[in-house]
Amino acid sequence: MHDTTRPRPLHSHARTQTLMTHIVLIGAGHTHVGVLRAYAANGAPDARITLVSPHPRLYYSGMLPAHVAGHYARAELAIETGGLLNQLGAAFISTNVIGFDGTTLTLADGQRLAGDIISFDIGTAPSAFGHDHPERVVPVKPVEALLTGLARFEHGLNQDDRARRLAVIGGGAGGVELMLSLAYRYGGRPDRPVLDLVARSGVMAGGPAPVRRALSRALDQAGVNVITGHGVKNLDDSGLILDDDTRQPADCVIAATGARAPAWLADTPLTRDDNGFIACDWTLRSRSHSHVFAAGDVIALPEPRPKSGVYAVRQVSVLADNLARAVSGRTLIEFKAPATALALISLGDKRALAVRGRLSLPPSRVLWQIKNRIDRRFVARHDRPRLDEPKTG
Ligand SMILES: Cc1cc2nc3c(=O)[nH]c(=O)nc-3n(C[C@H](O)[C@H](O)[C@H](O)COP(=O)(O)OP(=O)(O)OC[C@H]3O[C@@H](n4cnc5c(N)ncnc54)[C@H](O)[C@@H]3O)c2cc1C
Repeated sequence: MHDTTRPRPLHSHARTQTLMTHIVLIGAGHTHVGVLRAYAANGAPDARITLVSPHPRLYYSGMLPAHVAGHYARAELAIETGGLLNQLGAAFISTNVIGFDGTTLTLADGQRLAGDIISFDIGTAPSAFGHDHPERVVPVKPVEALLTGLARFEHGLNQDDRARRLAVIGGGAGGVELMLSLAYRYGGRPDRPVLDLVARSGVMAGGPAPVRRALSRALDQAGVNVITGHGVKNLDDSGLILDDDTRQPADCVIAATGARAPAWLADTPLTRDDNGFIACDWTLRSRSHSHVFAAGDVIALPEPRPKSGVYAVRQVSVLADNLARAVSGRTLIEFKAPATALALISLGDKRALAVRGRLSLPPSRVLWQIKNRIDRRFVARHDRPRLDEPKTG
């Protein structure tokens, strides 16, 4: 599927470099890291490559909940891009892109960067919820912010005898999986916080009934209070204000609500969908700018697909191929996106359940072991950091 040209030498002549097509990859997300790996393994297009992202490290999303539960060290879900970039002779700029005028990118330090082919894999924006109470709100991403916020909350747990409360907002798969992982993380502690899950429409609303029942039972067994029927409209100094104006005390709030598009995209000329994500055709190419591609959570395909790491990873081979095809002016290929994908949802306690569309398998240790094997095999294919970091963040 990929170009079979060999990777170009690490140090090309500077003049050759400036004449070469310049591919700018924005974001070290799940798809771009896979693209770099594909180029390193199978041969890169005849182009200069630059990766722009705040960190060269990716945390594999499938293993995040189990890391929160304490089953994996942070280093076990980390994938490094440094070796791939070196092998490809690619440049890395450690910053955020904050603007794009259709031709040139603006970086957070004010510098401008032009690319002939530009690809966005920048994920979603953290929830804007509770920005006036930052000491209480913990974002679910990036991983570093989630773990720093939890550490801050945990520091307060053993300060006095007052029971602390932690609330997760969002009854979707991400919110439920995270809450079950937190329940496992705190299960053995004498100062275990009270855990509240606010799931306005219920646990995994719209999911198959057996999955909803199994997750509700797991939350109940883990001692999590599930609040349904009301959403959260705001925060005050003592906690949550629900949409019927009742107050729900909370010392720590994690908003695992629907994915938001990065706000700065609204100021670019890129065509976006109603939710602000970059509108692309099935080749992953922007509908408005033929030299722009997108992948992962930030893409809006012609038909909606779930925003999950599974789809981001599935786009790797098509994006890698199409960037190479764009360099040489060949016809692009299409991403065949299945309407549903298998999701293995962990229950915090080394059990998992499986769901694909309306089909599901009940929670079991065997499914956790399968998930564990798939996830470990995925990260093992990439460069890894040292594995001597502690298990919990
Ligand atoms: C708690 C939780 C659990 C989850 N569990 C699962 C799971 O089990 N399985 C699953 O498939 N999915 C899961 N997901 C969803 C998954 O995390 C996302 O779908 C996945 O990370 C999307 O990958 P991506 O490549 O689009 O973006 P990301 O992996 O988020 O990467 C985006 C990259 O872009 C960089 N970036 C962002 N903005 C800029 C900018 N302006 N300029 C430059 N770089 C930028 C970021 O630093 C990052 O490197 C979970 C999500 C959460 C929150």
